[in-house]
Amino acid sequence: MFLKFWGTRGSIPVPGNSTIKYGGNTPCVEVRNNEKKLIVLDAGSGLRELGKHIAQNGHEDSIHIFISHYHWDHIQGIPFFMPLYEKSNTITFYGEEFNGKKVKELLGHQMALNYFPINIDEVGAKTSFVEIKTNSVYQIGDVKVETRRANHSSPTITFKFTEGKKKIVYMTDNELHLRDSPHEYSAMEILEKNKELVEFCSGCDYLIHDSMYDEISVLGKRGWGHTGNITLAYFSILSKVKNLVLFHYNPDYSDEKIDALLKETLSVLNSENSGINCIASKEGMCIEL
Ligand SMILES: [Zn+2]
Ligand SMILES: [Zn+2]
Repeated sequence: MFLKFWGTRGSIPVPGNSTIKYGGNTPCVEVRNNEKKLIVLDAGSGLRELGKHIAQNGHEDSIHIFISHYHWDHIQGIPFFMPLYEKSNTITFYGEEFNGKKVKELLGHQMALNYFPINIDEVGAKTSFVEIKTNSVYQIGDVKVETRRANHSSPTITFKFTEGKKKIVYMTDNELHLRDSPHEYSAMEILEKNKELVEFCSGCDYLIHDSMYDEISVLGKRGWGHTGNITLAYFSILSKVKNLVLFHYNPDYSDEKIDALLKETLSVLNSENSGINCIASKEGMCIEL
């Protein structure tokens, strides 16, 4: 499998001098299986850049876009995705029903005439919309896709993609925060309250996880559906992941702040002799596995 990050920021795009290193676009990750089939994780503003890249490099037989949830930062790239306007493309969107509404309606809303000049029914590509559920298994070519429920302020799906022996988990907009004090790290408590997700991530090659906040600022944000970096470090130790990828950064965090977040996370992983490699995702970053 191959991964490329096109957007790594949470909540809202933040262009500017302080976000050059890690990027300002909202979530979008390209996944390719060994046959080069294209799977896209979330459709934040990073999707626009991916679309330009696809248009410049020719045609894709089929594009599969998985939407974790419908918060604006995860869907806002769709109207600006160039392949959507190309007749020869076939694009399938996968997402969950919400309040009785189907995926097409949930995504199409943002292209209603009062928001955008082109309606979802007027795009050139052949589009289809697939309702998916949690605790389910899907197949895209030789890639197995498994789903679970994340802990977020709106119903959100977390995904595991398996090809042969390689496994990646995409778990963003997920709250692991469980402690009352920033100075008490109880691995047992984290395990107890996140058993299902620990098991889901168990032994994966790459865990791409929400690390929206540092451990102090997350304390005032209980119930917002995001995670502090130290809790995440312990979660990844419990899950015995091979590589932890920090993702979905606070839009207020500068490059220097994310450098510090990474350094702190690494120091916890190292002090516990975890052997886990930790990297901070940034736009343009590629991973081959
Ligand atoms: Zn988000
Ligand atoms: Zn969200």
